[in-house]
Amino acid sequence: MRVIGNFIDGQHRNGGAGRLGDVFAPDTGEVQAQVAMSTPRELDQAVAVAAAAQRDWAATNPQRRARVLFRFKELIEREMDALAAMLSREHGKVLSDARGDIQRGLDVVEFACGIPHLLKGEYTEGAGPGIDVYSMKQPLGVVAGITPFNFPAMIPLWMLAPAIACGNAFILKPSERDPSVPIRLAELAIEAGLPRGVLNVVQGDKTIVDAICDHRDIKAVSFVGSSDVANYVYGRGAAAGKRMQCMGGAKNHGIVMPDADVDQAVADILGAAYGSAGERCMALPVVVPVGAATAEAVRSALVREIAGLRVGTSNDPDADYGPLVTAAHRERVEAYIAVAAEEGAELVVDGRGFALQGYEQGFFMGPTLIDHVRPHHRSYVEEIFGPVLQILRADTLEEAIGHATRHQYGNGAAIFTRSGAAAREFAARVEAGMVGINVPIPVPVSYHSFGGWKRSGFGDLNQYGVDGIRFYTRTKTVTQRWPSDDSAAQSSFVIPTME
Ligand code: NAD
Repeated sequence: MRVIGNFIDGQHRNGGAGRLGDVFAPDTGEVQAQVAMSTPRELDQAVAVAAAAQRDWAATNPQRRARVLFRFKELIEREMDALAAMLSREHGKVLSDARGDIQRGLDVVEFACGIPHLLKGEYTEGAGPGIDVYSMKQPLGVVAGITPFNFPAMIPLWMLAPAIACGNAFILKPSERDPSVPIRLAELAIEAGLPRGVLNVVQGDKTIVDAICDHRDIKAVSFVGSSDVANYVYGRGAAAGKRMQCMGGAKNHGIVMPDADVDQAVADILGAAYGSAGERCMALPVVVPVGAATAEAVRSALVREIAGLRVGTSNDPDADYGPLVTAAHRERVEAYIAVAAEEGAELVVDGRGFALQGYEQGFFMGPTLIDHVRPHHRSYVEEIFGPVLQILRADTLEEAIGHATRHQYGNGAAIFTRSGAAAREFAARVEAGMVGINVPIPVPVSYHSFGGWKRSGFGDLNQYGVDGIRFYTRTKTVTQRWPSDDSAAQSSFVIPTME
């Protein structure tokens, strides 16, 4: 059995803990590899290596650091097909979607190539008599990223590209479900000219996450995963004095107004709800039609379109979506469908018990549609993270905004309408970090930034964009004066006021 270990100081290292985790092939249900869970001692070694490498890397001028990133971008493009195949094999998402996963991460590498410009500080000439003030952005040192299973390329790249561009060294702790792509990305970074030790991958689970949060020499941690874990990691890392940004789960609402183009809205919602088997934090698992007539039109169009969806293996070019990541996760999703039925919602299409011919042991699920969900239902309040779409009916835009706003999660929300006034009202008032207007998955482009509200995000700064640069640097502000030889030396006992 292939064992996936660590990548430290530019070299593969076997994990030494003796504890192994299974990496499944979701298409077939087989165990295809094992991941070696690291010990805190191995983390210590990685951090020591990273700290030593960081000093020279930070002293490398930003233009040279950018050149490494340009080359890294070229190598990822060169390897796109191989990376996508590797990603699909472990995650289960279809190849075209795996390419999208890599591309959205690559976009952040491109953004980070602009680091010489992004790191320029501020300068005020003559802030007081003979006094100038300037600020600079300096790297933090060794920083870490902890990532979820559902975007094994995009999310590591969201973090590591800005972090290393800013002159930090980075420890990546990828998801133990699909650890291969992060290792390959680290190899490519070395091939691109990144000095050894600047980017290290340490495999593991809770033990290593705790050790990262507690580690004295790790200055900041970026986390993406489920909300309870995000909340816990935020608290633990912050208590240890670290800068933290922890993104959590989601339950994004898609409001359909009576004036919307229903066919277009349904086409968008279908892809956003079932694409990647619903395992996306920016999926749209709740549709909120406004008015009874809209609800009936949306429901009947969804039923019609769902019948035509094709569930297939991750390498089936005609499949709309592939298997779920593990059997355990599929069981969890199926349990939520049972809960929804017990709570009194209507199972319009039930995707449980789906088997793909020839791949009966794979982790497949058919698409599920649930109507008449109520705001107090547990199946609505909690994140399901599978190919399950719920209909929550509303009578007015006001009520629809209220549902999205009162929900515990506030990652994203979308509205489908032809009314500029309704869209504007929605965007201004809804409590969610990312809003789509006739756009189903509003993941912002790499030069804006990604972040949810409420239990979808803990911490102050968003991922990537200018917020990413702020997160991975600290500001030093210098107030300077160069007295001339003939200026009289005098003490002042009053706080300087620059008058
Ligand atoms: P997860 O919370 O199970 O795991 C995320 C990371 O935390 C992994 O690296 C894992 O090893 C580690 N971890 C798991 N349990 C832990 C524990 N008890 N203590 C410490 N560390 C622990 O999440 P997942 O199942 O890999 O990913 C899916 C979740 O991530 C969903 O909730 C999804 O909404 C969320 N997500 C959020 C965003 C976002 O940007 N908001 C993006 C993608 C995914």
